[in-house]
Amino acid sequence: MNPHLSVVVPMFDEESVLPLFVERLRPVLDDLRASYEVVCVDDGSRDATPALLERYRRAWPQLRVVRLRANSGHQAAISAGLARARGDWAVTIDADLQDPPEVISEMLRVGTERGVDVVYGVRTDRSSDTFFKRVTAEGFYAVMARLGARGAMNAGDFRMMSRATVDAVLALPETNRVLRLAVPTLGFPSAEVGYRREERAAGRSKYPLSKMLRLSLDAVTGASSAPLRLATWCGLLGLLVAFGVGAFALWAKVMGHSVTGWASTIVVISGFGAAQLLGLGLLGEYVGRMFAAVQARPTHYVAYDSLEESALGRQPS
Ligand code: UDP
Ligand code: MG
Repeated sequence: MNPHLSVVVPMFDEESVLPLFVERLRPVLDDLRASYEVVCVDDGSRDATPALLERYRRAWPQLRVVRLRANSGHQAAISAGLARARGDWAVTIDADLQDPPEVISEMLRVGTERGVDVVYGVRTDRSSDTFFKRVTAEGFYAVMARLGARGAMNAGDFRMMSRATVDAVLALPETNRVLRLAVPTLGFPSAEVGYRREERAAGRSKYPLSKMLRLSLDAVTGASSAPLRLATWCGLLGLLVAFGVGAFALWAKVMGHSVTGWASTIVVISGFGAAQLLGLGLLGEYVGRMFAAVQARPTHYVAYDSLEESALGRQPS
């Protein structure tokens, strides 16, 4: 029989934190009075993580180990775990104890009592994060909000999702999914649970600047094709400037103030620059449409249809 809850944990070189994590997670889950499984996704670790996992598995029957062949990144590791999770609910949680395992029981309670599909873990206190992490995170969420991405401020990847949500997420054909932005676009009813972001219990962050940049780029380009439009606007602006400069160059020539050849050179350079940017912008518009087609996000999700009441369930109350 399928477990009630799946706990998906991505892990990359977490040998130093793993014993602490298991020690803290197990009592929480054993106290739930619900069946559960823990899906540990070893994201191509090069340290003792796989060996440790094998050892814990022998003493903890609900522990499952999924090993990826190569380090594929946090988001990919979570996707791998979700794809294999069998629970009616799935929680994704970091292995470094920055997301307190005790919050899982609250998520489960909120999810069941309020009848929502998604329960976001929202960081109410980030004081344990470094100054750099806080500033970059704030900038990130501000930019994403401007680009119209739905989603809670300060909600990372600590969240609980219903089976329907997990299936919908996995059905998205995007390759570089940014889950914290993709889940809200699915539009399932949701609730939030606040928690204090703790310090990493042991070991070092597996998110170097390069991976943070990768995630932000994926987030921006995944949420919007607005950056592609930039060329169009620069082109239009350039065209205006070219007109201005051209008019000035002609005027200077007529007045006899200019060096021979200057006017024609300026007009040609600025004119061509603007034309190229406009052409790029035009290309961008088409690339943007292709991008949307490739992403193939559904245009809408139906929550309720009176004709299919039984099939879709949940009547608005
Ligand atoms: N992680 C992963 N693959 C990676 C990088 C990170 O599975 O390539 C896991 C890591 O083991 C941890 C979670 O993702 O469980 C979050 O990573 P980390 O705590 O290093 O990120 P930070 O909290 O510093 O942003
Ligand atoms: Mg961490």
